[in-house]
Amino acid sequence: MNIRCAHRWAFSRIGGELAEQADELPAPTGHEVTVRVRHCGICHSDLHFHAGGFDLGHGQTSSLERAGAKLPLTMGHEIGGEVVEAGPEVSGVVRGEQVVVYPWIGCGACPVCEGGDDHLCPKAMRNLGLQLPGGYADLVRVPHERYLVPIGTLDPARAATYACAGITAKGAIGKLGALGPGHTVAVIGCGGVGMTAVALLVATTPARVVAIDPDPAKRDAALRCGASLAFDPAAPEAAKTINKACGFDIAAALDFVGSESSSSLGVNLLRRTGQLVVVGLFGGEFRMPLPMFALKSLQITGSYVGSLNDLRDLVALAQRVELPATPLHLRPLAQVNEALADLAAGRFVGRTVLQP
Ligand SMILES: [Zn+2]
Ligand SMILES: [Zn+2]
Repeated sequence: MNIRCAHRWAFSRIGGELAEQADELPAPTGHEVTVRVRHCGICHSDLHFHAGGFDLGHGQTSSLERAGAKLPLTMGHEIGGEVVEAGPEVSGVVRGEQVVVYPWIGCGACPVCEGGDDHLCPKAMRNLGLQLPGGYADLVRVPHERYLVPIGTLDPARAATYACAGITAKGAIGKLGALGPGHTVAVIGCGGVGMTAVALLVATTPARVVAIDPDPAKRDAALRCGASLAFDPAAPEAAKTINKACGFDIAAALDFVGSESSSSLGVNLLRRTGQLVVVGLFGGEFRMPLPMFALKSLQITGSYVGSLNDLRDLVALAQRVELPATPLHLRPLAQVNEALADLAAGRFVGRTVLQP
C-alpha cells in the first residue's frame, strides 16, 4: 500500500453522507507517526459531530466550528493499528508494532498536558477524529509517539475501543470514592460505554452493579457482563422500583446518557452522600431542587473521556485480568454510513468496529 496517501471517509456538510476521499500524506516530521488503521470503533459522539454539535438546552447547541473542526471532517477516535512510518525524532516505537492510539490530544506543552491530562488541555485541542483527521480511514497521522500504547497480544478490535469507550468508563469510575462490597452502583445507559463500565466495575470492584436501560437486549447483555440487577427506566415508577430493589442504598450513579430524564433519575436513585457522575452528552439541562444538595449531601460531577494514563492502565489491566467481553460487531469501513444509521437507530448492542 502507498503509505503517503490516506483514504478517508469524510462528510463535507453537516449531516451529509460520508464519502471516500484520497489525501496525500507528506512525510512525517519531528515526532509524527503514521499508523495503518486496522480497527476503528464508532462512538455515539460521532453522531453528535455528524449532526454539527451537542444540545445545550434552551434551544442552544455547541458547534463544530467553535470546537475548531473543519469540513470535510474525518471522524473516528477509537483507532487501533500498526505503525508504518515515523518522523526523524521518534524513539521507542517499532515499525509494525500493534498499538491503540490515544486520540484526545491537547497542545502537548502546557502543564495540564505534561501532567498526562491532554484531554483537559485549556490551550489547544488537536483531537483525532475532530480537529485532526481520525480513524475512518486506512491511515492516520498521530502528532507524537507518546500517544501510542502498544497492545501486545490483546484482541486488537477490542483494544481499539479502549481509546474512548474504555477510558470514558474508566475515567468515570475513577471519579467515585472507594467502593466496598456493601456498595451499589447504578449504571444508567448500557450502550458501548455503559456496558464497558459494567464490565470494569464487575472486574475491578466488589460493588454490586445495577444496569438501567430501556432496551431489554442491552439489559440482558449487562446481566451477562456481571450486573446483579437490570431495570427499564421507562417503566412506570421506575425510580421507586429500583430504589426498593436496592434497599434505598445506591451509593453512586454513572449517567452515560446525559439527558434531562437520565440525570434526574440518577439523582433520585442516590442515597444520602451519594455521587452522580454525568458522562453522556445526549444534551438538555440539569434540573434539581436546590435544597436536595444539602439535605442529601450529594456530590454531582462530570467526567470527560479519560487520560493517556487511563488508557495505559486499561491496556495493562486487560493484559493482567480477563475483562468480561462486551459485544463487538465488526463491519467494513465502506459500510460506515449504514453503521452510523444503525447506531442512531439503536439497532445493536455493544460497539461497532470498522475495518478498512
Ligand atoms: Zn467517543
Ligand atoms: Zn496543553
